Amino acid sequence: MDFDFKRLIRVIPDFPQPGILFKDITTLLKDGRAFRAAIDALVEAVRPLRPEVIVGPEARGFAIGAPIAYALGVGFVPVRKPGKLPAETVSVTYEKEYGPDDLAVHRDAFPPGTRVLVADDLLATGGTIGATVELVHRLDGEVVGAVFLIELTYLGGRAALEQKIAPAPIVTLIRF
Ligand code: IMP
Repeated sequence: MDFDFKRLIRVIPDFPQPGILFKDITTLLKDGRAFRAAIDALVEAVRPLRPEVIVGPEARGFAIGAPIAYALGVGFVPVRKPGKLPAETVSVTYEKEYGPDDLAVHRDAFPPGTRVLVADDLLATGGTIGATVELVHRLDGEVVGAVFLIELTYLGGRAALEQKIAPAPIVTLIRF
């Protein structure tokens, strides 16, 4: 079945700031057949990478990463804002458009040497996934790939992420 996935992404001008064309994935997620087809396509694309765990940042990274993990029969590890995870964490600070931000992961999330696939809904500048990759490296995981529902091709995220994970591939389904 061939879905026009792009048509199911709602584009909202001036959200959350003037001048931003926000890509709203909720219109795809609420369509059960499209959601399943999108996840199935991503699963088949990443299966050959043989990840042992999927690591995804809150909140929309959960909506993409968790179903991929379920389909592959591997674990899912949440990356969260500081103060949200209950056990001992490792955290990183990264630069966002309007200043620094922090992300954290449980210190015992996976053993050293684990094959990790990082996942998020959308690749823009690559800042969020770059911080996620850094957390995986801090736990001595091996990043075997990165997967996104959407890639914004005009913000340089792919090149920035490639610098961190190459030759591991970057898999995306919908491109703007
Ligand atoms: P980056 O860190 O600049 O690559 O931005 C990607 C992160 O910001 C992801 O975690 C996305 O959930 C979020 N994000 C940025 N732009 C959009 C958008 O247009 N729609 C949905 N999420 C976005």
